[in-house]
Amino acid sequence: MKCPRTHTTLKKVSVGKVPVYYSEACGGVLLENNTLSHFENPQDKRGNDLANHLSQFHCELVSKNKRIRCPKCPDIVMLQRFYSPLHAVEIDECPGCGAIWLDTGELEKIQSLMLNEKERALLRCELMKQHERIEIKGMPHKHDNWDRRSDKIDAFFDLASYISNSW
Ligand SMILES: [Zn+2]
Repeated sequence: MKCPRTHTTLKKVSVGKVPVYYSEACGGVLLENNTLSHFENPQDKRGNDLANHLSQFHCELVSKNKRIRCPKCPDIVMLQRFYSPLHAVEIDECPGCGAIWLDTGELEKIQSLMLNEKERALLRCELMKQHERIEIKGMPHKHDNWDRRSDKIDAFFDLASYISNSW
């Protein structure tokens, strides 16, 4: 497989038995479907090892935002989407095979944004407050009939119980 940025051959390495493919030319890495979750936590040894390994190949990319093709499925252009709870890192994901390409430095960014338990609880509180503001402020609108209002209240409490169940 070729590096989608530099077109050099990707090297394969196993990190804690999970195979990853990285580019020595740019420090980017290809993670197969669902394997990013093994590396996103900096307290996890695998995450730490992979970030350290990639950091030796770190380089400044000029065209990081250019759309790239999936190294595994050369006909498919990868989609760009935000990753991490705070939506701060944009990653490339293949809609065909689910592989994720991380450019140089992006794994560290994802790791540094991993929230601890307390931060997660605060974020949940913040989200609840936002929903409360949107739903309840919208209610006294004069064109709203009562049925629609009670739908909104139900929807809000459904959401609230969903969030607290997934705590
Ligand atoms: Zn693919």
